[in-house]
Amino acid sequence: MKTAIFCDFDGTVTRRDVGYSIFHHFSGGKNDELLPDWKAGRMTTRECLTREAAMVRASTDELYRFIDLFELDAGFLEFARLCRKNDIPLMIASDGLDFYIRHILGKYDLGHLMLPTNVGRAENGGLTVEFPHRNRSCPRCGTCKGERIEQFREDHGGRHSVVFVGDGYSDACAAHRADIIFAKKDLERYCQAGKIAYLKFDTFDDVSRQLIQMNHLER
Ligand SMILES: [Mg+2]
Ligand SMILES: [Zn+2]
Repeated sequence: MKTAIFCDFDGTVTRRDVGYSIFHHFSGGKNDELLPDWKAGRMTTRECLTREAAMVRASTDELYRFIDLFELDAGFLEFARLCRKNDIPLMIASDGLDFYIRHILGKYDLGHLMLPTNVGRAENGGLTVEFPHRNRSCPRCGTCKGERIEQFREDHGGRHSVVFVGDGYSDACAAHRADIIFAKKDLERYCQAGKIAYLKFDTFDDVSRQLIQMNHLER
């Protein structure tokens, strides 16, 4: 069995959640009103992101200066190198916005790892969002990570053992589709509540170490 790895971006590849921080910072914290409904599944991700984006007041320059403050998980570059060396597909599946992911990964020449996701546009002192990726069965997500995993399995004849690494509720659909789950924070709570087996991690050094022990990766 081959291995394939899907990673969440916000709060996983980056230490802090970039999308949340943009909405929080540039809405004066107003976006927080929406999150309890979203976390409880009473509001879809599409509605939540659309309403959060409408609260943003920022110039394009201000947005990019803010985005430049975010750092990658200290173990991620080495993790990406190990995947490349072991010929293991590594894909970043996000239900955030494409422009900041592309901007941050581009600094490290890792833009090619990113799967298509929701489109965010900084314009006219604000932010707009579009959802070009129809989910076939998921009513909740903007771009469903569970469906990305399904699609990958279909395209590759189900020959892969799928690893998923994530930290939040937007990873819920992926947690039901992956074979091995690395979880922290809200995703860890979600797995515990749903009795889904997972491995704990804090940084990608933990993920690398455990995948080496399990013979999915070689140093
Ligand atoms: Mg996340
Ligand atoms: Zn979904």
